[in-house]
Amino acid sequence: MTTKLRQDPMGRFAVVYEPGLARLPLLSGPGNGSADGGEQSVACPFCPGNERYCQFSIDQFGEKKDWKLRVIPNRLPFFSVEGGEEAFPDGIYDINGGAGAHEVIIESPEHGLTPFAFTQAQWCDIFTMTARRLTDLRQDSRFQYVSFFRNFGVQAGAALSHPHSQILALPLVPPEVQQKLRAFHRHQEHKGRCLACDIVHHETSARKRILAENESFVAMAPYASRHPFEMHVYPRRHQGFFESMSPEEQVLFSRIIADLMQKLQRVLAEPPFHMILFNRPVPAEGSRFHWHMEILPRVFAATALQEGTGIYMNPVTPEEVVKVAGSRPAQGFDDQIDDNGIG
Ligand SMILES: [Zn+2]
Ligand SMILES: [Zn+2]
Repeated sequence: MTTKLRQDPMGRFAVVYEPGLARLPLLSGPGNGSADGGEQSVACPFCPGNERYCQFSIDQFGEKKDWKLRVIPNRLPFFSVEGGEEAFPDGIYDINGGAGAHEVIIESPEHGLTPFAFTQAQWCDIFTMTARRLTDLRQDSRFQYVSFFRNFGVQAGAALSHPHSQILALPLVPPEVQQKLRAFHRHQEHKGRCLACDIVHHETSARKRILAENESFVAMAPYASRHPFEMHVYPRRHQGFFESMSPEEQVLFSRIIADLMQKLQRVLAEPPFHMILFNRPVPAEGSRFHWHMEILPRVFAATALQEGTGIYMNPVTPEEVVKVAGSRPAQGFDDQIDDNGIG
């Protein structure tokens, strides 16, 4: 188990070594939709009737055979609950045994459905189940971070086109989240307030980058957007854990997400994207965190500048995104995109 999860000694990232990952989609794979080209296959392990491929349901909505959403263990887990060795030093390096959990939410029995066609009720089922799984996984004292993510499109890393998202429980707070935690701490020390609460307050006052909002949530094109049409959603009230949402908040949150998906579809025609939950880590130092969801359309390939410096090139300002996605009629989008040289 000495190669399971290695941490970059310079603190930038951690790497999972797992032979099964050779099956991850290659960027040269067929189709925009997924590595299997979007075709329904008799072998699709997520399709109804093929439940035998998926060991057992961890949880589900709907009747046994007549499920409308089910959660299963990932066949090629990045981490597994059987891991369990503590972090230990390997010479000057840090390594972790990889105790964690990796689950798949099969979001619908319908193979060809894309997230752009999900109804608000379907998103609500996904997030209700996500909250249930995160609440459960957080009970395990080995896990320091539990979260949700979703890929769409082969360029965004989706290995199967059957609609699914993923739940991850990790034995460490990931580097990206640690970096955010440091920003929350700095802001708290200097201003005495929560960084995300301040962002929400500033953006809802300035009203230059708001994409959608309701009584509980605000969606914005973030001030420093890395990708064209990047979108972030924050709860208005200070809330550390995604899984603390009330049922009413889950409905309001899924309305916002369904709305953002429609905007993306109108403007970029079903682009590959990542949807990533940033959730409050378990350790006490995470107590200042305020959860949020990021949607990152993958319009451009990663560049050396981005990989080497964290500096991104983006031809569309967040203020322009709001003009295009927020107010212009669907007919005008193509012209705008051509003008900006994207597409
Ligand atoms: Zn399928
Ligand atoms: Zn806050």
